[in-house]
Amino acid sequence: MARKLVVGNWKLNGSLAANEALLAACEALAGVDMAVCVPFPYLAQVASRLGGMALGAQTVSEFQSGAYTGEVSAEMLAEMGCRYVIVGHSERRALFGEDDATVGRKAAAALRAGLVPIVCVGESLSERDAGRVMEVIGRQLDAVRESIGAQGLSRTVIAYEPVWAIGTGRAASAEEAQAVHAAIRRQLAKYGAPAAEIRILYGGSVKTDNAQALFAMPDVDGGLIGGASLVAQDFMAVCRAAITGD
Ligand code: PEP
Repeated sequence: MARKLVVGNWKLNGSLAANEALLAACEALAGVDMAVCVPFPYLAQVASRLGGMALGAQTVSEFQSGAYTGEVSAEMLAEMGCRYVIVGHSERRALFGEDDATVGRKAAAALRAGLVPIVCVGESLSERDAGRVMEVIGRQLDAVRESIGAQGLSRTVIAYEPVWAIGTGRAASAEEAQAVHAAIRRQLAKYGAPAAEIRILYGGSVKTDNAQALFAMPDVDGGLIGGASLVAQDFMAVCRAAITGD
């Protein structure tokens, strides 16, 4: 896969003024696809200031409409101009009780509305130490496949985000990331999905000094960027590291 995708995940950060300043210093670059996933209340503001980047949200309801106070549907996100939505981020799984089946249903909801779900998978440190990386990721992917099938998977982005690397400053090495990405691609192929065409992003402490090495790996199709996406200069540098000639 030639052209890479870099997605900023702002998490629970931002204000009208801070967003304005950040977006004023960011713009889409040639040779890389860029997106920002922002808190719900800022979707309209950011939609009007994208500078060629795509818009995304950080979670979505599995439901379309009805008595689900506080929920936001995929259709609403699409109406606000979103192209992407993150589902199954490890913070949602750990802090908000989202299990594998829920993540699968959220991916289905996103596809139903024409959004591209960015499905996050990844192991904890104890799971890695126990040699269970692909057992855990395989289980997470199985649930998504069960919900959306191989056909649905062909319209998703997968983000490999080792939990121990998120927000810790300790990224996976390029070789560690490559090994897991290749295994994920093999798993996607086993499902009968067009594995070579499905983007697999790496996320977890991607910074200006490690982005180039990570993005140089053949199965790393871009990045999901947390902390570094909040500093315009850093986000742009990470995106520049993902530029390909195609
Ligand atoms: C994330 O939250 O998806 C993430 C990768 O965070 P960070 O880059 O800060 O580790």
